[in-house]
Amino acid sequence: MPIFNRKIHGGVHVPKNKDATKNLLIELLEAPKILYFPMSMHIGEDAKPVVKIGDIVKVGTKIGEAQGGISANIHSSVSGKVVGMETLPSFRGEKTTLLIENDGKYEEETLPLLTKNSSPEEFQDRLRESGITGKGGAGFPTSVKYDQEKESTKYLVVNGAECEPFSTTDHRVMVEFAQEVVDGVGLICDIYELEKAYIALEKPMTEAIASLENAILDSGREDIVIHLLDAEYPQGHANLQIEEVINVEVEEGKRPGHYGILQSNVSTVKAMYDACLLGKPLTHRVVTVTGPKLKEPKNLMVPMGTPVSVAIESCGGLEEGEILPINGGPMMGKSFENYDFPIDKDTTTLLFMDPKDLPKETPCIQCAQCIEVCPVGLQPVLISNSYKEDRVDLVPQLQSESCISCGSCTYICPARIPLLENIQALNNQWKEAQS
Ligand code: SF4
Ligand code: SF4
Repeated sequence: MPIFNRKIHGGVHVPKNKDATKNLLIELLEAPKILYFPMSMHIGEDAKPVVKIGDIVKVGTKIGEAQGGISANIHSSVSGKVVGMETLPSFRGEKTTLLIENDGKYEEETLPLLTKNSSPEEFQDRLRESGITGKGGAGFPTSVKYDQEKESTKYLVVNGAECEPFSTTDHRVMVEFAQEVVDGVGLICDIYELEKAYIALEKPMTEAIASLENAILDSGREDIVIHLLDAEYPQGHANLQIEEVINVEVEEGKRPGHYGILQSNVSTVKAMYDACLLGKPLTHRVVTVTGPKLKEPKNLMVPMGTPVSVAIESCGGLEEGEILPINGGPMMGKSFENYDFPIDKDTTTLLFMDPKDLPKETPCIQCAQCIEVCPVGLQPVLISNSYKEDRVDLVPQLQSESCISCGSCTYICPARIPLLENIQALNNQWKEAQS
């Protein structure tokens, strides 16, 4: 049965809250003296350290090697010396972590360049070697998504919607690196001999639209087009976006590749450009550091492995009083406590909220708004009730595993019931019961 039994017709109109950073140029965050590289910055198996204490590394040296099919290489973002290997907490839990002392020289190690005549296999190898994962926050190894025969692959959909409130990382990448994004898209089109590539972004993103239009014009390519979306949440979800852009419904248990479609986030395409046309593995990422409890919000180009505390400091520090830090946006992000966590490949946004702004839960008033907004046609209230009533057996009947964790139901609920949290907890119970 298809999961997406209807298009996003309503969605939710979420306040964007992007004004603090949307017009700010990306600033390079100076790397600290010691950087921390957990061997998991991605979905799947942890990487295995391939350097030892005392080894000298450069920017781009592989320090962690992918293990198994779903995993990703990890590279140093500074030059210097490996000074430790410890088990330390990170956004993905306690992980083996390499400590590298920055020598401040930033000597670089690069890979040979690819060309438009490279094969899909060479391209995929490069993505794997460069440790590229989805930069929209999901952390899925990109090389796995590009395991496609060129004969059966027709389209590329590039997600530039960035519908998560507060986050302006993709927006700034499109404004400041439009040519690199378009050249990256062009490279994928050439290597896979695609019919068309669509860059999808929301109508109000006028500055990014203009930058991309100019870059497409300069490139002279007619196979790359911009597709404008209504400003509704969650336009950024991959499969929903594919349905919206090229009218193909991705069925449960299948991925876009089954339909001859490649799909990537716009910042991931920029990372692919860096890896293939500049020979640079993934070592840095743009992070929006923002929120009402942060003194000076910024868009930062962060060397991976830099602790959150260093980013906070470069933004003038935090306001007094209680603070709720969130890794990601308010819709899909997760709260965290430890500012020593290293920023990794998944960190799109660091948000610092005032917990007093969060409303308190009250009883359900049976308004059905959560059902109305769910983009995949679920009944969030019933799933949440099943969790509260310990009815994990109802998971298949309610299809709760089809939830895409968009958070729209929680956002819209007037009773402020943490529906998404309850749904995830129920799904976790179901998974445990099945294993
Ligand atoms: S979080 Fe899940 S249940 Fe809630 S609206 Fe989104 S997809 Fe539907
Ligand atoms: S939106 Fe909230 S109050 Fe309304 S039916 Fe759903 S759970 Fe109940």
